[in-house]
Amino acid sequence: MSANMDMITAQGLGHRYRTAEGSEVQALQNVNLRVPRGQFVVIIGRNGSGKSTLAKHLNALLQPTEGRVLVNGIDTKDIERVWEVRQTAGMVFQNPDNQIVATTVEEDVAFGPENLGIPPADIRSRVRQSLLSVGMAEYAKHAPHLLSGGQKQRVAIAGILAMKPKCIILDEPTAMLDPSGREEVLQTVKKLNREGITVIHITHHMDEAVEADRVIVMDDGKVILDGSPREVFRHVDKLKAVGLNVPQITELAQQLRNAGVEIADDILTIDEMVASLCPSS
Ligand code: ADP
Ligand code: MG
Repeated sequence: MSANMDMITAQGLGHRYRTAEGSEVQALQNVNLRVPRGQFVVIIGRNGSGKSTLAKHLNALLQPTEGRVLVNGIDTKDIERVWEVRQTAGMVFQNPDNQIVATTVEEDVAFGPENLGIPPADIRSRVRQSLLSVGMAEYAKHAPHLLSGGQKQRVAIAGILAMKPKCIILDEPTAMLDPSGREEVLQTVKKLNREGITVIHITHHMDEAVEADRVIVMDDGKVILDGSPREVFRHVDKLKAVGLNVPQITELAQQLRNAGVEIADDILTIDEMVASLCPSS
């Protein structure tokens, strides 16, 4: 047991890609992070800012070219423990279709634990539990490719859950979904977090970030803001300078403030807007 009680630690993490043409891209630079167990972290940043590269370090799909990453106290450079890292921190990707590996939902969810060498009886109960957990139990015998995008992502999440992870990393899992699919996935992830799983959720939907414990903003391979949604979204100008929006309500509050309306500078929700504009209501 490690003395390090954080779920994830990145110390001076850097990543340089070498391209086929022989040039180098510094995708991450001196990233320092500590994510305590149970936290719900959202990572935002424009295209190419290094979010996916960071995510891949958190389950040892990439190795640091500088610094180091610990997952539940395990150094991701420890080759002998790579599978332990991947089981601890499972990853869900953007395109649900690329994550389907079997012809029925239950076989798909069983794939991960089968690869871990779990006994069959145990696998059946894990598959059942995981599908219940994401609200997809009644689809166990269905063909995954016929499901909606939101359902496919929930099956992908169940496949990770069946490996009993402590942490789930989601790299823009809602980017290809319609609003109702997005909502399904977001509610599922929030529920798992309430049940104790650490969540790292990469998204370009600012409204999803409002619901996190913590928002990390990346630009050009670096962490440029890191705090609660309220702290981070107060930096409207800085966010805009790196090509990001703020939640719609925050934007509206800023415009009202610029127009001379007396309103708090850290509005994140409609309720807060109403309370700030009509203190007596
Ligand atoms: P994001 O997920 O925020 O869009 P990425 O982590 O995918 O950002 O990319 C960060 C930077 O690294 C970008 O400049 C991107 O072009 C570059 N990059 C990503 N993957 C590779 C790769 N396999 N080879 C070379 N460069 C890469
Ligand atoms: Mg990406």
